[in-house]
Amino acid sequence: MPPTTSGQRLRTCRACGKKFEYPVKGNPATRHHCEDCVIIPPETRKTIERLSSRVNQVEFQLRSLEAKLAALTPPPAK
Ligand SMILES: [Zn+2]
Repeated sequence: MPPTTSGQRLRTCRACGKKFEYPVKGNPATRHHCEDCVIIPPETRKTIERLSSRVNQVEFQLRSLEAKLAALTPPPAK
């Protein structure tokens, strides 16, 4: 873990999923959005957040399916 100054925490952007430190002096990032996404109009950002959470769900499902498949697949015979 990189050392953080008092009050700084590593946060995950709700829109793009980027990890960023907050609060950073002079950085416009907010608690939930990194400095790249904070300038996106809220209406557009809402859509991005929805898509982002669906991507997270799909990634989670994919990982659990991969784990199931790995459990079903016999080890390669050599
Ligand atoms: Zn972002």
